[in-house]
Amino acid sequence: SDFLNASDPAIADLLNQELKRQRDHLELIASENFTSPAVLAAQGSVLTNKYAEGLPGKRYYGGCEFIDKVEQIAIDRAKQLFGAAHANVQPHSGAQANFAVFLTLLEPGDKIMGMDLSHGGHLTHGSPVNVSGKWFQVRHYGVSQETEQLDYEQIRELALKERPKLLICGYSAYPRIIDFEKFRSIADEVGAYLLADIAHIAGLVATGLHPNPIPYCHVVTTTTHKTLRGPRGGLILTGDAELGKKLDKSVFPGTQGGPLEHVIAAKAVAFGEALKPEFKTYSAQVIDNARALAAQLQNRGLKLVSNGTDNHLMLVDLRSICMTGKQADQLVSGVNITANKNTVPFDPQSPFVTSGLRLGSPAMTSRGLGEAEFTEIGNIIADRLLSPDSEEVAADCRRRVAALCDRFPLYSHLEIPVPA
Ligand code: PLP
Repeated sequence: SDFLNASDPAIADLLNQELKRQRDHLELIASENFTSPAVLAAQGSVLTNKYAEGLPGKRYYGGCEFIDKVEQIAIDRAKQLFGAAHANVQPHSGAQANFAVFLTLLEPGDKIMGMDLSHGGHLTHGSPVNVSGKWFQVRHYGVSQETEQLDYEQIRELALKERPKLLICGYSAYPRIIDFEKFRSIADEVGAYLLADIAHIAGLVATGLHPNPIPYCHVVTTTTHKTLRGPRGGLILTGDAELGKKLDKSVFPGTQGGPLEHVIAAKAVAFGEALKPEFKTYSAQVIDNARALAAQLQNRGLKLVSNGTDNHLMLVDLRSICMTGKQADQLVSGVNITANKNTVPFDPQSPFVTSGLRLGSPAMTSRGLGEAEFTEIGNIIADRLLSPDSEEVAADCRRRVAALCDRFPLYSHLEIPVPA
């Protein structure tokens, strides 16, 4: 804004450079998206000034009459969107949401069972470097080596042997549908709580394009910024209103202080957008676009983990072309495509090198690209990866990326000032 340009040119310049970067690159990081201008506006608002410890109607600070209404709208919309009896919209992030769930359901030393990070699980599902791995005993399940998909019988057997107190489903890099009903029957058989972390697929769940975990899971957590296309943040949902009260206490005062009410306002706006029919059209397009990209990569001879995708993301298994994820990431990055290296199941490489490239469709679908354009993206990526040494191919790929970015403008209402 003009204010920022005048008062802090250094930061203003960097924000402008970041806007230009977002405009000029094909954003294929599966966990990213472009929020609406309305979400941006709510987040960059005067609500950032307000302390509001507590919950709507039960605050520890005065002056919360408008904040209360904002947060209540966010709660009501979240409940409606997912069919939940209870929602807490205060977690600062997905990791914070999960931590509050652990504080509610577990004691230090209890056993948890989630998916191995290298098979697509998240750090907060028991990684040794995260509090979930430091304070709890962890047993991990993975995908089947044969199908590279969840094998519920294998998970059941491990759960019966290990008897975890908490079973976690929901992932960061799993391209297939999750059967929450099957997970619940396993959890019931071993007497475990079931947590679904739907951070990646929340937008697909909200629009009925992926099964909803609420009827089957004791608690559901999510981020609000991936397929759901809201501000960066977390959300906790449950079908059990009594458990909801305990979860509220674990967020505040359990693990957080004052909620970020400007972010909660932006969440409310995003939930409102997600309740509209246009968001279902968008989410269906996210899936169609992911399928088009997956099909074209496969047509060009690239291998995908589990041979395809049912959702918004896919993992290219680069072992068949003798390339690492690190190399592939650098190659696509060199032609202005942003993606991330990612382990594949049973990856022989370290997490810094990896054998996979994770690609997702949510962000570029928000820019308006359809299946024809995602097929072209598949061709650009294949051209680059299959001719890693050709500068000529690289130049051609950069040209084609620029053409796509030009055709689908981003945030046209924002202007980058031309230096005087
Ligand atoms: N859970 C899953 C499955 C995720 O993929 C992520 C983020 O990548 C998170 C939790 C953590 O979210 P945040 O980065 O907001 O803490």
